[in-house]
Amino acid sequence: MLHERIPLLPSTIGTQREVVRLTYGPQGADMKVYLQASLHADETPAMLTAHVLRDLLQSLEDAGKLAATITLVPVANPIGLSQHVLGQFFGCFDLNSAANFNRGVARPKDVCARLEGRLRDDVVSNRRAIKDAMRALLDASPPATEFDSLRSTLLKMSCDADIVLDIHCSLEAVVHLYTDVEAWPRVESLARHLRSRAQMLFVGADLGLFIDWVRLAWADVRAHVGDRYPIGEGAVTAIIECAGERDVSYESARQQAQAIIAYLVERGAIRDTPSTPDALLHPATPQAASEHFYAASSGIVVYRARIGDVVEIGDAICDIVDPITGGTVTLRSGTKGVFYMRRAIRFITAGAEIGRVTGG
Ligand SMILES: [Zn+2]
Repeated sequence: MLHERIPLLPSTIGTQREVVRLTYGPQGADMKVYLQASLHADETPAMLTAHVLRDLLQSLEDAGKLAATITLVPVANPIGLSQHVLGQFFGCFDLNSAANFNRGVARPKDVCARLEGRLRDDVVSNRRAIKDAMRALLDASPPATEFDSLRSTLLKMSCDADIVLDIHCSLEAVVHLYTDVEAWPRVESLARHLRSRAQMLFVGADLGLFIDWVRLAWADVRAHVGDRYPIGEGAVTAIIECAGERDVSYESARQQAQAIIAYLVERGAIRDTPSTPDALLHPATPQAASEHFYAASSGIVVYRARIGDVVEIGDAICDIVDPITGGTVTLRSGTKGVFYMRRAIRFITAGAEIGRVTGG
């Protein structure tokens, strides 16, 4: 295992943060896997999953079973990890700029222009050229702030990966997963190994997510190249949501880490006997079909649906109780699907998000 410390640009004099990268398996293998945990720094279960992955990957490396270069970033956001204000932990947004650490990632431009004259009839050299072009594009935009430095560092470490798994969690939630509809046939078994209860598929969306950078870079190259040159499949990218933020246990972390390892065996990154996961618990659904509930008024949220429930149209999701007026408003689902996430704090302001159902 190669242990590297990559310094970030400091935000103020006298401070210096760093990202730690652990690399397992043969350096420079044709296949590369990138795993990162807790880009939203307060999503602690992801870090514990990475902790278990670390031991599993080390054992596999010692046994000579790694066929791919596997990069693990067990703590992807040292900026967010330090944001504690009056006892509250703010890890999703950069307190300096209000930017979400997993939004606003600019779509890559000019990858295709950088490939001019570099492709031929050899898939291996073409893939290398595409990955070189992605790296060169990122190198051409040096960061100016600590926030940009973190983003740039993580993108540079992941842009040449064939599999990118961004490990998060939600507030109160079942294990669920996001990927794009084109990648779904290659991601389905990951969802099955994870015993994921909801799989949301993006259709052609650019949400500015971390995984969108490499996903869209490949999509643009594919559209540009067409059938003129062989380039193989684009990168597989997915966001794994390790249940809710308080679901921190060795048991769940081990289950999730073992699921990721089983998936990497199937994808050929690890030389081991593949295992057959159980069938999906619920079918994948378009992300756009997911119903997001928002509070029409402020009050105490009393949930009537449990996380993981399959709700029907008209089923009660929650009540919002106003102890000043004595009124109670019941919020009902407009969709049939899995109630896969809900808020963690039980008092709500008007307009705030209450939870989500997958839809169909
Ligand atoms: Zn997150």
